[in-house]
Amino acid sequence: MSTFRFEALKETAGRKPVEVKELDRKSIIFGSNVFNDKAMRQFLTPEAYKAVKSAEQHGTKIDRKLADYIAMGMKEWALSKGVTHYTHWFQPLTGTTAEKHDAFFETSFDGSDPVEKFGGSQLVQQEPDASSFPNGGIRNTFEARGYTAWDPTSPAFIYGTTLCIPTVFISYTGEALDYKTPLLRALSAVDEAATEVCQYFDKNVKKVTATLGWEQEYFLVDAALAASRPDITLTGRTLLGHSSAKGQQLDDHYFGSIPTRVLNYMRDLENECMLLGIPVKTRHNEVAPNQFELAPIFEEANLAVDHNSLLMDVMQKVAERHNFKVLMHEKPFAGVNGSGKHNNWSMATDTGVNLLGPGKTPMSNLQFLTFFINTIKAVYTYEELVRASIATASNDHRLGANEAPPAIISVFIGDQLTKVLAELEGVSSGKLSPEEKTDLKLNVVGKIPDVLLDNTDRNRTSPFAFTGNKFEFRAVGSSANCANAMTIVNTIMAKQLKDFKKEVDALIEGKEMKKDDAIFNVLREYIKQTKAILFEGDGYSDAWAEEAAKRGLSNHKTTPEALKAKVSESALALFEELGVLNHVEAEARYEIELEEYIKKIQIEGRVLGDIARNHVIPTAIRYQNIIIENVKGLKEIFGAEFESVAKEQISIIKEISGHIATINSKVVEMTEARKKANALTSSEEAAHAYCFEVKPLFDVIRKSCDKLELLVDDEIWPLTKYRELLFIR
Ligand code: ADP
Ligand code: MG
Repeated sequence: MSTFRFEALKETAGRKPVEVKELDRKSIIFGSNVFNDKAMRQFLTPEAYKAVKSAEQHGTKIDRKLADYIAMGMKEWALSKGVTHYTHWFQPLTGTTAEKHDAFFETSFDGSDPVEKFGGSQLVQQEPDASSFPNGGIRNTFEARGYTAWDPTSPAFIYGTTLCIPTVFISYTGEALDYKTPLLRALSAVDEAATEVCQYFDKNVKKVTATLGWEQEYFLVDAALAASRPDITLTGRTLLGHSSAKGQQLDDHYFGSIPTRVLNYMRDLENECMLLGIPVKTRHNEVAPNQFELAPIFEEANLAVDHNSLLMDVMQKVAERHNFKVLMHEKPFAGVNGSGKHNNWSMATDTGVNLLGPGKTPMSNLQFLTFFINTIKAVYTYEELVRASIATASNDHRLGANEAPPAIISVFIGDQLTKVLAELEGVSSGKLSPEEKTDLKLNVVGKIPDVLLDNTDRNRTSPFAFTGNKFEFRAVGSSANCANAMTIVNTIMAKQLKDFKKEVDALIEGKEMKKDDAIFNVLREYIKQTKAILFEGDGYSDAWAEEAAKRGLSNHKTTPEALKAKVSESALALFEELGVLNHVEAEARYEIELEEYIKKIQIEGRVLGDIARNHVIPTAIRYQNIIIENVKGLKEIFGAEFESVAKEQISIIKEISGHIATINSKVVEMTEARKKANALTSSEEAAHAYCFEVKPLFDVIRKSCDKLELLVDDEIWPLTKYRELLFIR
């Protein structure tokens, strides 16, 4: 019965690092499979090139004729690189990427005139048979039409022998069915609002771009071992397994030397990333055994989101070549750290200024403070929405589990900026005297050091931390599509900046204040209003949970509770006002996320029930029978005295029976709880039932299974153990 585990272990014993083909220098190969500026200049006519650039930078429409020319150039470029197929590449709400490949190849109806064809209409729009993607009730299945439309702001790329064209995915009636559409809307909203605010400081600013640099954490497990575990195969995590005698307690993995098999995997992956124009830069071991991290240079947010989605796919494919499986799950193993995906976020102007980077002059620092304080205000006002943006069944395992930020959203800013805010809070109300203004500019705003990095990077427990020249949203889960978090962050920022502008203008026009007086006045009020969201202490502590409750901050520990904020009146109004999601879209997304939660827990429940009953119990009985035989033998030899000789064996027999009883009865209970939950017609109620009636039984069942793992003979234990999953590499 346990042969699968041992076969897998034997397979791993013969593993050698897989050789990686050396490519040319990174700077030379970077982006060679991307239809980037260089390729476009080479393959497009000047008019076609200009049309793409203008669409990319200003969102202008591309007319049909030019689309034909662009498609022609794109096809020639792709064919020159051996490409045979093309696909509209999109990010449906399943959390993965989707593609349906079509060959360029075409013939006449009688099979004559074979040619490679790709026209403007195929580039711009497609109608995949989309009836099986989640839509939250927007599309009736009888009218299951959704279509994909080209997003010229993210360049086409070649993966394998397929030309991939990044697209949005929308219903026939125009509602967003993917992650990208609302993200693009949020980015455009923040561009507009931030550009207007920048006008206070620099009239030359015409565009503001949100920037994102993600840091992807992941686990690598030997492919054979991963395949030997039904839970990893079906749910991406272990649902049971006793912790290894050695875990991460020695801290000997973090930043340690990278094992050769893994290093070769990373090199191979980096080569692929280079060809695809994903600017990966950093690689290292993470805290848990077999846990690693990869981070790129930051990019424009939409492109960065696409690159992260693409990367997650590429990581898995490259892993196959190296006999690894990548676990993107937020908590693949109990007892060691889980994985996150920090989202480093900022905004940059088309004049090259990072709006969250302190400057060298008082005026540029006032601009920095404006964006900095407005971010704090945005998070303060919409903290529940920020929490909701990272809510998933898998991320629930991490938040608040003493290894990742808590489910309470707060903002960390560091000592120096705390002092600056305290000084600004003292600014007089109304018009400032010339002396006060000079003093402020020289001694407060003027003295913000341009290197804040060292001072700000210390608190690792904060979910939303200022780290010198950007905010780092640390509570995002490793398996998440960053678009979710980025859509919310940019939407609330856009709204906040719009409101700020209105308030400042009202003071300038209504009270005849000077521009910087008005700005100081509004910022001062914001500092007073938003204190509750600022927290510099230990986010993992119980004291903080108590304190946060007093401050009125939310602490939604589970996804069903957290998600509600996405359809609160204020959230719906916000999405509507900024044009990010209309009511139908927002409600549909809420429904989809609840359903996803339900399905995830349902699948985990089924898999756990199966493993517990069909693998663990039979193994425990086999082992128990061996001991029973042994006790019978002892009785034969020792007669009346046998009880003292067989005492320990008998106690093990009883212990095993106890665990079997627990497992069996709890699996029955869990199945009943699932049935009840499934009978509920409202997704909200069903998600709640899965969360509070079904899921808690996982722990009870697991505990007895894990105890049995410690009791039963290793030679017959069928499930690959933690020490094997975590330490073989
Ligand atoms: P570290 O934290 O490793 O010392 P950095 O703070 O420079 O290094 O960067 C961490 C991550 O933040 C990187 O992925 C980087 O690309 C990203 N990052 C740096 N500056 C910005 C910015 N202005 N906007 C968005 N992301 C940024
Ligand atoms: Mg970081």
